[in-house]
Amino acid sequence: MPPRREQTPATSRRAPSAPADGTLSPVDNPQIADRLDAFATLVELADGNPHTVRAYRRAAETIRGAAVPVAELVRSGRARELRGVGPGIEARLGELVETGDIAELAELEREVSPDLVGFGRYLGLGAKRSVELARALDVHSADELREAAAAGRLRTVPGIGPKTEAQVLEALAHEAEPRPRHGLLLNRAWELVGGVAAALDGEAAGDVRRWRDSCELLAVVCAAGDPRSVLARFGALPQIVALVEESERRAVGVTVEGVPVELVAADPGRFGTALVRATGSPAYVAALEPLPDAPDEEAVFRALDLPWCPPELREEPFRGEPPTLLKLDDIRGDLHCHTTWSDGRMSVEEMGRAARARGYAYLAICDHTPAVGAVRGLSPDDVRRQADEIAATNELLAPFRVLRGIECDILPDGRLDLPDDVLAELDWVQASVHGGQRMPRIEMTKRVEAALRNPYVRCLSHPKGRYINRRPENALDLERVFEIALEEGVALEVNGLPDRLDLRGEHVRDALRAGVQIVCSTDAHSVRGLENMALSVATARRGWATAADVLNTRPLDAILG
Ligand SMILES: [Zn+2]
Ligand SMILES: [Zn+2]
Repeated sequence: MPPRREQTPATSRRAPSAPADGTLSPVDNPQIADRLDAFATLVELADGNPHTVRAYRRAAETIRGAAVPVAELVRSGRARELRGVGPGIEARLGELVETGDIAELAELEREVSPDLVGFGRYLGLGAKRSVELARALDVHSADELREAAAAGRLRTVPGIGPKTEAQVLEALAHEAEPRPRHGLLLNRAWELVGGVAAALDGEAAGDVRRWRDSCELLAVVCAAGDPRSVLARFGALPQIVALVEESERRAVGVTVEGVPVELVAADPGRFGTALVRATGSPAYVAALEPLPDAPDEEAVFRALDLPWCPPELREEPFRGEPPTLLKLDDIRGDLHCHTTWSDGRMSVEEMGRAARARGYAYLAICDHTPAVGAVRGLSPDDVRRQADEIAATNELLAPFRVLRGIECDILPDGRLDLPDDVLAELDWVQASVHGGQRMPRIEMTKRVEAALRNPYVRCLSHPKGRYINRRPENALDLERVFEIALEEGVALEVNGLPDRLDLRGEHVRDALRAGVQIVCSTDAHSVRGLENMALSVATARRGWATAADVLNTRPLDAILG
């Protein structure tokens, strides 16, 4: 296995140090918190008890935010006054304050190597199993592991049966085309690939740059006169724990979760060529080949005598003039968010202020109705009490407008979860299927049709009801839904939650071809959630949406009118 370089967990560098004279330096709150966090991380890497991991993380957070010196509390035997500190953690704190470290943590740091864990997870092995395997076989690189596997040595390791052996061999065989075992959600993929790209002055490429809903090909392209230095910096990034492949201008590194990231260090004169190649889908790129050498993408497309193509459209082969796609700046308001009235974490005013600060003109508060079940839903009475709070907020934030909205459940029989006289008072009604999603296609389509026929419903939320990588799409006849939406003037949502992104790009394109309006919404449950508008807009772009196709690019009177 590939510990190409000696690595100790980054956290160990922050250990409180004992000065040479034998007296311990005072341990401050951030240092204590760091040590507890490091302990949690290593227990997690060793596939230890997840409850322990969570408990240590929580205690670290408390200690980091504590107003009093925690070392003093520990010395006076009062550590358990801190939230989340029980007898186990109290004993560790005592040891840390007394000796300057936690013995078990130091031992874990010697035993668990993040690089082996990352590589093992990439091959589908648990953390402990991969460290055992590497030690038992005395292998230190992917090549050595491949040799050991080819020689049939894997099964000589205690605990490695034929099934695990087959799994490792299969993963090793696919290494030239590195893929994570499960696609990454787009927000997580951007965090990882965007972080690596920024650290190396490169460009995020692969599935992330096309804003795919579940990202498998994670790639970064750099322009590098001296590829060795870029490859070395890549290998030393905190996100990358091991390199599993390395050639002159390319490397594949893995994260501690075992997720592979590909780095291309292109000659500056061919950077554009490499970026086009690493961004488009295989079918899109193949249709453009042979690609000319060029320093940037614009020059590549120019040399091919083609207009530049937005990355979101580089799925199917395409050589035409792309439309002017919707941009984030075109969005004038968000029409779906939650507050503490249901399962949101912030108040009407906090959400309104944040939306105004984003430059929006309006925000619709769409809390849940009772049938949603798992969380609190608003009764007719609640809806009217919330109206007072929204009116008061509007006085504070004018001319910005907070709209009275609702995310009204569609009951299994197609009726809505609030009476019409309540819906009639509202500015904006979203209808949503939450429970009973396994209905057969005909019933589900009838259920949604009935809701869309309600005169107060303006938009169908997350129409397909999927959770990416967790729950399949509802059996819903979208063609029929498009017909009804068009007849009734109802819009379809492109929900921006990273695990929904619903409608997805292909369906947005179908909806727009049918002439249906879409709405880009975040379904935010906090101020931070409003940032997911970028995901919703990108998903609409994947469906070839222009600003004119999207209702909330319009001023408020055009929406309320
Ligand atoms: Zn919902
Ligand atoms: Zn919602």
